[in-house]
Amino acid sequence: MEVASARQYEPVIGLEIHVQLATDTKMFCGCELSFGLDPNTRTCPVCLGHPGVLPVPNRRAIEFGLMIGLALGCEIAPRSIFHRKNYFYPDNPKAFQISQYDVPLCSGGELAGVRVHRAHLEEDAAKLVHAGESGRIHGAEASVVDFNRAGTPLVEIVTEPDIHSAAEAAEWARLLRETLRALGVSDVNMDEGSLRVDGNVSIRPAGEATLGVKTELKNMNSFRFLERGLDAEIARQEGILREGGQVEQETLHFDNRTGALSSLRSKEEAHDYRYFPEPDLVPIAPTEAMIEMARAAIPELPLARAERFERDHDLPADSARLLAFRGEQGDFFEAALAVSPSDPRTLANYVVNDVPPGSAATPEAVAKLVDLIGAGTVSRGAAKEVLEVLAAEGGDPEQIVADRGLGAAGGDELGAIVDQAIAENAGAVEKIREGKDQAIGAIVGAVMRQTKGRADGGEVQKLIRERIGA
Ligand code: ADP
Ligand code: MG
Ligand code: ZN
Repeated sequence: MEVASARQYEPVIGLEIHVQLATDTKMFCGCELSFGLDPNTRTCPVCLGHPGVLPVPNRRAIEFGLMIGLALGCEIAPRSIFHRKNYFYPDNPKAFQISQYDVPLCSGGELAGVRVHRAHLEEDAAKLVHAGESGRIHGAEASVVDFNRAGTPLVEIVTEPDIHSAAEAAEWARLLRETLRALGVSDVNMDEGSLRVDGNVSIRPAGEATLGVKTELKNMNSFRFLERGLDAEIARQEGILREGGQVEQETLHFDNRTGALSSLRSKEEAHDYRYFPEPDLVPIAPTEAMIEMARAAIPELPLARAERFERDHDLPADSARLLAFRGEQGDFFEAALAVSPSDPRTLANYVVNDVPPGSAATPEAVAKLVDLIGAGTVSRGAAKEVLEVLAAEGGDPEQIVADRGLGAAGGDELGAIVDQAIAENAGAVEKIREGKDQAIGAIVGAVMRQTKGRADGGEVQKLIRERIGA
């Protein structure tokens, strides 16, 4: 008999990502897109939902939608249709959102092994600002509505449930963000809400084919929180199943500060929204020329960039990916490589591990440091210290080496230190002469301690062997 508590569970995750498009104007009117401006200063009768107005689709938004679909390897529908998704809420003055339903613009794509179910166009809602204590009206907490966001063009990307851990979900979402950033279709700023990720998650006994009941974590606004939230939810679901209970389908909020999960609402069904075709809009029927234009506008994407780093610069797959999937660091690496092409692996290693994005180090300075190592002017040990200074304060590596006495120990200075280390480690010398070669480590270690890591290990070994005639 199977013991329930010993059972292994497999998480199953699908993501829904809302991407605000970086067009100049809104999806169906000419109002300017904005963030952080005075409330209700970028509105018109269309995005305020006045009766009798007519929507006009934003051509650029459709082009961006096509670029996203093509970049994700989707099929483009020859005639996709706008629908009204009906719901009442204060952020939605029309009482419906124009979205796409059964015929989305893009369907059936794939990115890094995760299938993309669909990507469709829609409009964003207005923003509710909860005024809290200070905004009390008649003793109640007040909320106000800012319609500047209402009508902002969105592409919603929906994956198949192909992801199997919280960490994988966060890493994939990072790759998607970098892909969108490279496309130039969105600011992809999670703090400002231009990229919003919902995580759908269920668990099932390992080896089982049918899906478990899922819950949805809404609007995770950082990849770290997405990962933490999914992990917390996976643990919660496991707890329920192990006690013989059943997971309920619902939408949850994850509190970043406390780590608590709370229920927002039980799940709504598609029929709750009374979808029907938007009578004021014709289908989107992209011409061949529009599709070709969109295809031509797609630059090198992060996955292809990672492959190029691996192939052309001989980088290990993981550092190639780290650089390419974190676009800023990839740019830094390429800028530095242009200055110093001799040792891409060391350079990549430093950019990934020692130069956090936004640090004071410039690509030129890091490139120069790699050259100093290549020339034997600075040891790899001392270079780490130079990097710390570069990252914290910036500056010129040569100057930092001079100011702090970090230059590689060499010549007579190093010779004297090696002689002393040999004299103090007679036992080790004996062993080396007897053929126990690894005993040389003790002498090298003594030299490194004496030089505080400023000597080159290979050089030190060579000197020792020369001197003891081994
Ligand atoms: P809904 O109708 O609740 O919106 P969908 O079938 O449209 O559900 O899927 C929404 C998202 O949830 C998709 O990303 C999908 O991959 C994911 N998903 C669907 N079912 C499951 C499940 N059982 N476990 C995990 N994720 C799921
Ligand atoms: Mg959904
Ligand atoms: Zn408007």
